[in-house]
Formats: sequence, C-alpha cells, structure tokens
Amino acid sequence: MSSTVAESPTGSSSFANLVRGQDVAISCRTTGEAAGETGSEDWEAVSRSLEGRTAWEILEWAVGRFGDRLTMATAFGPEGCVLIHMLANVAPKTRVFNLDTGYQFAETLAMRERIRARYGIEVEWVRPETSVEEYEAGHPRPLYETDPDRCCRDRKILPLKRAIQGYDAWITAIRADQSPDRARARLVGPDPKFGLIKINPLLHWTRRDVWAFVVSNQVPYNPLHDRGYTSIGCWPCTRPAHDPNDERSGRWAGQAKTECGLHSLDSSRL
Ligand code: SF4
Repeated sequence: MSSTVAESPTGSSSFANLVRGQDVAISCRTTGEAAGETGSEDWEAVSRSLEGRTAWEILEWAVGRFGDRLTMATAFGPEGCVLIHMLANVAPKTRVFNLDTGYQFAETLAMRERIRARYGIEVEWVRPETSVEEYEAGHPRPLYETDPDRCCRDRKILPLKRAIQGYDAWITAIRADQSPDRARARLVGPDPKFGLIKINPLLHWTRRDVWAFVVSNQVPYNPLHDRGYTSIGCWPCTRPAHDPNDERSGRWAGQAKTECGLHSLDSSRL
C-alpha cells in the first residue's frame, strides 16, 4: 500500500477536477437527490471497481456519489485523522461526528479542538441520552464491568443509529488487518446493521501505512499512542496493548469482547 500512502491531492489523476467549496455544495445537492437509489446497486461490482484506487480517490468517489448524505464517524484514531486530513482537501463540509460515550479519555476529547485548529472541521459530538452519572445510577456496578455489550449498545450503537438518520452512507476508518470481522469488509458495501452504505477507504492500509502518512503529513494524533495505547476507546475498557502483534489487545483486555459492535458483522453482538 505504500503507493497509496504516498499519494497526495496533486498525485491523484482526477484531483485536478476535485470539487471544492461552492462546487461541493452544488455537487452535494445533486448527488444527494439521487443518493436514495442505493437498493438495487451491485455493490460487489462497485467495490471491485474501486480496488487499486487510492484512499483519496475512494473518498472523492464517495463524495460524488453520496454528496451531503455522506457522513463519517471518528474516534480520533490515527486512521480517522488521516481520513479527516483527506476530507479537508476533498470535501471539508462533510459531516464528521464522534460517539462521545462519556467515557472517553481527556486526550481523546482534546482531539476535537486540535482537528478544528488544523483543518477547520468541527467534529460533532454525538452523545447518549443519559449522562454517565444518570446511566450508572441505576446499577450497583458500572455496566462496562458487568455487561459491556449492553454498555456499548446504549452508549455507542443507539446514539449512532440516531445520528445517521437521513444519511445514505458512512465513511469508516477500519483496516482489514485489525480483526477477522474487518478482514471480511469491502471497500464499499451495504451495512445492513445500520441501513447505510459503508465506505472503508483505508481497508487495505497497514498500521505502518497509516503512521507513515501521519508523520509525513503532520496529522494530529492522540498522544496516548506514544504511551503504548495502540488502539483507543473508552478509558474503562482500554489499556496499553499487551501483545505487540495485536494492536487491539488493549481493548476489553481479559474479556472475549473485541468489538463495540460498530464494525462486527454479527448483529447479535450489538
Ligand atoms: Fe461502555 Fe466500555 Fe463500550 Fe465504552 S467501550 S461504551 S465504556 S463498554
């Protein structure tokens, strides 16, 4: 994937035709009107047609295809920040949001201002209906200890389902080499769990690709990564990685749980 990482706006063959600013708004309205026509599309064929394209080009395609009915979720991981960097060039008005469970690290929360300062992109907080205090009040112990699947459902999945109302597609920052479920993902395809088309521009990137891009483009990143946290979620469920070969080994450490449910294929694992 090194050729993909090395790509820049000027290196993409079609970037000369990129829509920006006012042009983006016009493009969004036009494509947004047609964006509902996703049900009969052969997404396997679409995804295959995007194989070999750079992440920049896949984003450019997504903006052209879905316009203002395209959104992106980010946990401010390095992959998400890479995509925000690209969106700032391709379509800076794209709505980007963070699922703020109430349990995020202070360093993660601070990323929002760093992204705004660097790119002028205001990442929207999407929050559960209850505060942490209200949520924990009804339980003798926090649910992240006793029933983390339910906690993820209440504080991530349900807020996400509300946040995507009115959208046709979402961009995610998953990589195929992060987990078995993610390895089965496509560059583009239906996400039946959320009723959206899911776009994964970094699917074929490696961790090394991501960090090479971050360093060479001075993309802001969460300082916890410099303290051994290779994958960062909520503080109660995140530790520094204990397995150097598994960057997600610090997530729900000691439990069978490996995903919060956003990217697992099994709906029962919400
Ligand atoms: Fe709750 Fe942990 Fe899931 Fe965050 S990662 S929503 S704290 S169970």
